[in-house]
Amino acid sequence: MARKGTEPIRCALCSAKDVVEPRGDERYCRDCWDKKIAVEDIVAREFTLKRYIRAQSAEKYLVYHATQKRPVGMIMVIDDGFDLFLTVLLYPTFTWEDPAYHLEKDPEQRTFHEILVDVIAADIIEPWGGGKWHLEVFRSTAPEPEDWNGEM
Ligand SMILES: [Zn+2]
Repeated sequence: MARKGTEPIRCALCSAKDVVEPRGDERYCRDCWDKKIAVEDIVAREFTLKRYIRAQSAEKYLVYHATQKRPVGMIMVIDDGFDLFLTVLLYPTFTWEDPAYHLEKDPEQRTFHEILVDVIAADIIEPWGGGKWHLEVFRSTAPEPEDWNGEM
């Protein structure tokens, strides 16, 4: 008789039985999870967020990727005194929807734009003190912003 559901869950990557991560949805053993996190870390480090406007309750960043000279995105941060509101603009010059890395047999694919959200959490939201935050992502169809300057 088939006893589906009582079979021990095996690690998605190495088929070991002791799945421990991620907590609540255990699918990986400790070693494979560490490996996956290490790979994501390397991929994440290819992004650089450069702050070019810093106001008391707002900031603006340009997103750079190691493979490109020009920025691949832009981030606006507004603090209304309670929550943090982030607006992300992704430029079409980068492959945001592509898987950010490939691990043999891994059922969980993560795209570059998902990795960027991790980077934003670590580099912007945490330094702002964490707390409640809201993130909106827009995809630009123009590769570069149009610049307008004026004075009245
Ligand atoms: Zn494993």
